[in-house]
Amino acid sequence: MTVSVPRWLIKKAARTAMVLGSFVTGSLVFRKLLGRGPTIRVLTYHRFGDAVRDPWCVSAAVFEEQMRWLAEKKLAVSLDDVERFVRGEIQLPDGAVLVTMDDGFSSVLHIAAPIMQRHRIPSVAYVTTSFMGTTSISGERYLTWDEVKRLPAAGVTVGSHAHTHRSVAKLSPQDALEEGQRSKQLLEQHLGAPIRSFAYPFGMRTDESTETARMLSGCGYSSVFIAQHGTLRPGADLARLPRVKVEGGEPLWMFKLLCRGGMDGWKLFDDTLWKLQRPAPAEQAQ
Ligand SMILES: [Zn+2]
Repeated sequence: MTVSVPRWLIKKAARTAMVLGSFVTGSLVFRKLLGRGPTIRVLTYHRFGDAVRDPWCVSAAVFEEQMRWLAEKKLAVSLDDVERFVRGEIQLPDGAVLVTMDDGFSSVLHIAAPIMQRHRIPSVAYVTTSFMGTTSISGERYLTWDEVKRLPAAGVTVGSHAHTHRSVAKLSPQDALEEGQRSKQLLEQHLGAPIRSFAYPFGMRTDESTETARMLSGCGYSSVFIAQHGTLRPGADLARLPRVKVEGGEPLWMFKLLCRGGMDGWKLFDDTLWKLQRPAPAEQAQ
């Protein structure tokens, strides 16, 4: 979804300032020197293609550059690796990243998956089960069930992004449970494999709670992701794992710094900026 020029410029200036600020002030170096052990990050993407001034859409050429760099640096890890790292079962290199993609857009299969396959990058696609085959307000079609079934063979793990993409914490306990259960059942029926990871729609503070965390764990999800920014260390809460959003229209140097912690301070902005960039119909994806 294209955003206005002023909003685009303000947001890009803020993200660039955050990333550059962390670099220039040396906070990235300090973090390393503090020696609190390796930290890893989970990146969030949405759509892939040539949309103009659309922070939710990363071009194929830029994504290819990013994946090539991750492959060269041997930084890409799988969902399994991340869960085991958080449980303290394995070590991962400092700065390792997991690629995740929310909403289940068709470009995940047709643009992103072939690029990741070329560079052997594991990833997770969090799909919203009631959206299958429909078209979003961005104009891009969501994956069909047949397309979702092709993801595992393309190296993409499938997770749930709820059934209707509503804010789970704002629903009645019964409706919230339905979001966790129904999406899982439908995915398991179609894929014939267990679905054990969930990413909250919207994923900000008001979209999740201790009650929803308990409910999702009861549904059988072993890892649950939010959209608030942050890093992962052993012992992190598997019921609310933070991620870092990758936006369209940003150069490779910014992606490299973002993977090294340049956006870790963004959580201060999360609550305010997220409200500004939410699409008009509250129940649409992003
Ligand atoms: Zn979403």
